[in-house]
Amino acid sequence: AIRLEDVHLTLGQGATAVHVLKGVGLAVGRGESVGIVGPSGSGKSTLLMVLAGLERADRGLVEIAGTALGPLSEDALAAFRGRNIGIVFQSFHLIPNMTALENVAVPLELAGRADAFARAEAELGNVGLGHRLRHYPGELSGGEQQRVAIARALAPEPAILIADEPTGNLDGETGRQIADLLFAEQARRRMTMVLVTHDPVLAARCRREVRVASGLVAAPRPADALSA
Ligand code: ATP
Ligand code: MG
Repeated sequence: AIRLEDVHLTLGQGATAVHVLKGVGLAVGRGESVGIVGPSGSGKSTLLMVLAGLERADRGLVEIAGTALGPLSEDALAAFRGRNIGIVFQSFHLIPNMTALENVAVPLELAGRADAFARAEAELGNVGLGHRLRHYPGELSGGEQQRVAIARALAPEPAILIADEPTGNLDGETGRQIADLLFAEQARRRMTMVLVTHDPVLAARCRREVRVASGLVAAPRPADALSA
């Protein structure tokens, strides 16, 4: 589950400082999927960065799977992220000089998993890329690169999956296939998923939609949101 209370964050400094999150509250139950929509520049990606522990809130509570992130040291936060949070980005963010297999296995290896390469191979097979293990990102299609990124996000078996416009760089049909994959894995692994999208069809597939407007979340807390 995810709980945010009165989260504030200012990005940039001096003349470029922007008060992006202005008291965001959000509660997502375990296993729930939430689609975040809202205008460009409203703070959706920033909110995901805070949820993922990649940006620290200036003030307010950020609690993921029962752990408040604020008090964690940098090392503890990085370790917590690696174990509990999977992230998928619009532009894939694969490491260009590593093969598909290495992109998935190396983070597992760094996290101390002895079975990193076997596990990575299984996850790539699961997303339909068992025949592309030795390919580099530049040798893969956009949809294939996003599948590698999804395998990488799923490999540590995170409780929380965060996706920032995961279909934003893909054509319509490929985007639908990637969305099908994300929703199937979310349901099968009972993950909590928070997804940002400009695609109303994709947002509607989430169990609940949340709208962000100028750094505030509208209608943040339905009665069932904290059920787990
Ligand atoms: P989009 O739909 O276009 O992806 P978004 O809702 O994801 O938009 P964010 O990327 O979260 O928007 O950015 C929110 C606001 O914060 C924007 O107005 C942006 O200019 C500002 N911003 C982001 N990063 C910084 C930074 N490092 N310094 C200053 N301002 C920033
Ligand atoms: Mg964004």
